[in-house]
Amino acid sequence: MIQITQLRKRCIGCNACVEAAPGRWAMSRKDGKCTLVGAIGKKDIYILNVSEIEFEENKKASEACPVNIIQVKFL
Ligand code: SF4
Repeated sequence: MIQITQLRKRCIGCNACVEAAPGRWAMSRKDGKCTLVGAIGKKDIYILNVSEIEFEENKKASEACPVNIIQVKFL
């Protein structure tokens, strides 16, 4: 299991995470920020636990994020 977190309020909507992991990230039409699909928000941080199968592409999303608000770690 891995855990993905996003400090969503600082998202600048660049779309890099969607390109890296399109099955897990989606752009919101409401506010132009990216959404971690399936995540639950606690204050400004969105958190989601998923299978390790998703590690590589979400690690790429983390590395591609220009404002460094995506974290991926093994649980
Ligand atoms: S890569 Fe980072 S800044 Fe860009 S849309 Fe995704 S979360 Fe937002």
